[in-house]
Amino acid sequence: MSTTFITKLVHQSKQLYSKLMPIPCRLCGDSSQLRSICDGCMNDFIKLATVCPRCALPLQHTQHCGHCLNNPPEQDLSISLYRYSDPIRQLILDFKYHNQLYLAPFFGQLLAQKIASTSQVELLIPIPLHPNRLKDRGYNQSHELAKSLSRQLNIPVNPHLLTRVIDTPSQSSMAFKDRKKNMRNAFKLSHHSLELPKHIAIIDDVLTTGHTANAAAKVFRKEGVATIEIWTIARTVKADFND
Ligand SMILES: [Zn+2]
Ligand SMILES: [Zn+2]
Repeated sequence: MSTTFITKLVHQSKQLYSKLMPIPCRLCGDSSQLRSICDGCMNDFIKLATVCPRCALPLQHTQHCGHCLNNPPEQDLSISLYRYSDPIRQLILDFKYHNQLYLAPFFGQLLAQKIASTSQVELLIPIPLHPNRLKDRGYNQSHELAKSLSRQLNIPVNPHLLTRVIDTPSQSSMAFKDRKKNMRNAFKLSHHSLELPKHIAIIDDVLTTGHTANAAAKVFRKEGVATIEIWTIARTVKADFND
């Protein structure tokens, strides 16, 4: 049997399955879906198209933004899919706080499509939760996302290398000026002797002020990692938070 024939057969079986066993869209309830979110709702997600490559803020051009030129963040590159606003915001909150782990492969697949297949990244590092929070929540959404990306892109993931040593209050509940201060020294490496790759990607759900990612990236830079990328599902755009 040819591959084309098999692909066609798989496609037809999926279509038949979706007719017999429709999956309701998790946002609007429309039930003729092959995946968790219907095309109509996907169209409501605001894609980040032209952005500053270093911090992923929307721009009219793809050069570095003024902020990154004057005060460069620790990461070399930021990749984010959507602007952090409803309905993607609600979906991320469900993923993060309400055990909606079916969203890990959904987001992972979308993000993997945006990452070039030629990516030179050698290791994925999920932003860790403090052990107290991990105990309460039962899972780390960034690790779930990183596992899905790892499968899609065939890049290993290490969830134990970076640890959170300060149990910081939720970043989103703090005043902007307090966030940076709060993040300093929040992370450390668990194995200093381990040889690190030259090029890594740090995985988080949302890039907000960038202070979390920056603090994590700093830890790896200190250990001699040459290129650090930050991959997130969504990015807060400055107009969306008060500073
Ligand atoms: Zn829908
Ligand atoms: Zn920038």
